[in-house]
Amino acid sequence: MLADLTERGQTCVVARGGRGGKGNKRMPVGKEAGTREAGSDGEEAKFVLELKSVADIGLVGLPNAGKSTLLRALSNATPRVGSYAFTTMQPQLGAVSTAFGDKVTVADIPGIIKGAHENKGLGHNFLRHIERCSILVYVVDLSSADGVKPWDALVTLQRELEEYLPGLSNRRSMVVGTKSDLPNSSRTLAALRKRVNAPVFAVSAM
Ligand code: GDP
Ligand code: MG
Repeated sequence: MLADLTERGQTCVVARGGRGGKGNKRMPVGKEAGTREAGSDGEEAKFVLELKSVADIGLVGLPNAGKSTLLRALSNATPRVGSYAFTTMQPQLGAVSTAFGDKVTVADIPGIIKGAHENKGLGHNFLRHIERCSILVYVVDLSSADGVKPWDALVTLQRELEEYLPGLSNRRSMVVGTKSDLPNSSRTLAALRKRVNAPVFAVSAM
């Protein structure tokens, strides 16, 4: 990696321009004609530029867990919501005003499925955006609409994060169980709290 630009205004030179020539090619006569001098080529190279969204909080969950709906409910962002996988093709950012008067940025990070760390699904494309979030919110579906129990979803999510970047699953985090308006969610919530050693909040984003 050549450079990691993490601060506003930070710059880095990746290729230097050539030495400038002297004189004017199109006007080769006159007093200055004798001082013409060729320039030299600049450096040439190919670079891959990677954008890593910077958000305070990243919403991490399996497809359909309810991340986009939650972000919509919390902020002014308008991510697409759908009951099929990968409706969100890029991370969506929303600004959320807190009770303390400041603003936090929340990112809806889509596309994490089993095998994402091996670049399955949308894989690395999205996992890299998680790296820059200081707090991770694991969003799990209390209604198990896709047949996945929330504690199993949590294991899958943390494993994918850890496989992608060791230590990532140790980042400050909390668990949010969504769709608490659906049947059986309170029983599932109680079971989830018993199994998880972290704060678990239940919400209905609807
Ligand atoms: P994402 O893939 O994690 O972004 O999930 P979405 O936000 O697109 O939601 C997936 C599906 O769950 C959609 O059909 C939503 O309408 C539904 N959904 C999300 N949150 C809730 C909720 O709190 N209650 C109910 N009943 N449905 C929800
Ligand atoms: Mg979504």
